[in-house]
Amino acid sequence: KFVLADRVLQIAPSLTLAVNAKAKALREAGVDVLNFSVGEPDLETPAHVCEAGKKAIDDGRTRYTPAAGILELRQAVCDKLQKEQGWEYEPEDVQISCGGKHGLYNIFQAILNPGDEVLVPAPYWVSYPPMIQLACGTPVTVPLKEEDHFDIAPEILLKCATEKTKAIVLNSPSNPTGAVYSYEALAEVGKLAYENGWLIISDDMYEDLYYGEGKVPHILHVDPRLKAQTVLCNGVSKSFAMTGWRIGYSIGPRDVIRMMNRIQSQSTSNPAAPSQYAALAALTGPQEFPHLLREAFIPRRSYIVEALDALPGVTCVAPMGAFYVFPNFSAYYGRSFRGTTIDGSVSLADYFLSEAQVASVPGAAFGADDFVRFSFATSMDIIEKGMVRIQQALAALQ
Ligand code: PLP
Repeated sequence: KFVLADRVLQIAPSLTLAVNAKAKALREAGVDVLNFSVGEPDLETPAHVCEAGKKAIDDGRTRYTPAAGILELRQAVCDKLQKEQGWEYEPEDVQISCGGKHGLYNIFQAILNPGDEVLVPAPYWVSYPPMIQLACGTPVTVPLKEEDHFDIAPEILLKCATEKTKAIVLNSPSNPTGAVYSYEALAEVGKLAYENGWLIISDDMYEDLYYGEGKVPHILHVDPRLKAQTVLCNGVSKSFAMTGWRIGYSIGPRDVIRMMNRIQSQSTSNPAAPSQYAALAALTGPQEFPHLLREAFIPRRSYIVEALDALPGVTCVAPMGAFYVFPNFSAYYGRSFRGTTIDGSVSLADYFLSEAQVASVPGAAFGADDFVRFSFATSMDIIEKGMVRIQQALAALQ
């Protein structure tokens, strides 16, 4: 029998995708599942974007593109950053990838040597640690506290850093907590990163879904010198409801981007050409869609936070961005239902699915077992029904 790679055996499949698949299968079998596990907006891709994708096919844009992505799209990314943030980049500083996820994968492959450590604030997005491990690096989690609203505490960060620290991942607004790092915390992180020469990987996937005033505080607002050691990761998946088109973009120091292009040229060749033209239409066309999305989410966010917070023993920090809530259910751990004890987030999420037909994602997937993640990128009707079912399910625990 052949032996599989240790590198791969140490990672688990994405739990978020697995829960979603389980919920879909139950639904197809006729069970009335309310799905709170989805990581994508419930609106359709804007029509003009779909048209641009179809036109690209009709116009014969159906062949290989440069490995880095088409020049027009890389230029559009530069124009967007210039217009929205005042940051100057050139197309050579940009890579288009098969979704933001693959951009991150390329980054870790490009920068890590065996044993290099990457600081990952936890709760973290489910794919950072396995991606780092697949690049033979070591993820080092930096615990964030619920009472700090999941902001980064510089003194804890400092305790987690070692001689081997190579990079730090920032994700604000965050999946799964919806937290937005404070400007003060970012200033401290920026200072440490600058002094120690850490590469900063800023995953800005949810930047358009911010419920505060003005722009989301960003590490590149802290100190312009950090631009030389920061890779930005973003995409059209969430902002333009384009998760299935698979287009992301990374922007950063040219030598890192060049290596990422080398990896892409030897792995995927390039992201699908029609999808790149659709993304071009998204970035250069009317810009109201992300605002519409944000507006659709505001009442759902208020409702779900209030409903969860009102449950006895449950605490729920109001998310400042993205479309997730991350309530703490640990007060229920140790209780049981028909002889089965709830011993953590996995058994609680299983219980919610089997007894309440509510699909959610256990916090263990994000390195935080006290919590369960609910996406509110679903209709108000489903949110209202779902919260009643959760309340009844919790009340039935003994
Ligand atoms: N980063 C974060 C924090 C995400 O939540 C996601 C998607 O869930 C991604 C990156 C990747 O997005 P994409 O669908 O563009 O690969």
